[in-house]
Amino acid sequence: MSPEIPARQQQLRENLTTVEERIRTACAAAGRDRADVTLIVVTKTYPASDVALLADLGITDVGENRHPEAGEKAAEVLAPLRWHFMGGLQTNKAGAVARYADVVHSVDRAKLVASLGRGAVAAERELEVLLQVDLGPEFDRPSDGRSGAAPADLRALADAVAGTERLRLGGVMTVAPLGVDPAPVFERLAILAEQLRSDHPGATVISAGMSGDLEPAVAAGATHLRVGSAILGERPPLG
Ligand SMILES: *Cc1c(COP(=O)(O)O)cnc(C)c1O
Repeated sequence: MSPEIPARQQQLRENLTTVEERIRTACAAAGRDRADVTLIVVTKTYPASDVALLADLGITDVGENRHPEAGEKAAEVLAPLRWHFMGGLQTNKAGAVARYADVVHSVDRAKLVASLGRGAVAAERELEVLLQVDLGPEFDRPSDGRSGAAPADLRALADAVAGTERLRLGGVMTVAPLGVDPAPVFERLAILAEQLRSDHPGATVISAGMSGDLEPAVAAGATHLRVGSAILGERPPLG
């Protein structure tokens, strides 16, 4: 074992304790059961050795946002983990991602649904799909290349996922836009999720909340938090 490992494990343990305390406090304030919120630790840019340490500390769900980095780590870490892919995804890489991801959070267009479906069939795996919604200010759209489907397109996308072999519609995901109050964004996501469940009752996942905004996400009903830097440390810019 390299001498840095125990120090890194101690640091991750402390950070996890702090984040866990934040989640518990937020659940208590919202009158929610802690067990109804899943923590996904976002390990992008950090090595597979960190993922292994997190698994030793009891983490069950990890998130990555880039292919092939994500697949390389998933192949290297032997611990049984659920791998969440949450990055912009080109259709020509969807088949490869379908081989190792358990959940894809970043599905925002019909072409991607079809590609993931083909990949899941080829890999003989079932893939859970979350629809990423863009809830940013209207004036930023459409030129800035943000990812996410418009709320008006969710219904058709959900039907496309539900009608695709080997894909299972899990629910919705959003990233709160920078520089706006995230609370109303997460509240809007929860309303969209409720509307979606009237047609697709199994689509119960609401993936929202990161290191900086997990409290308003829990308050609004998030079922899955995606927390990176508060646990692993600040990433270099653009990481
Ligand atoms: C990086 C990332 C996160 C984690 O962000 P932190 O601010 O480091 O907690 C969550 N969701 C997505 C989609 C990400 O790319």
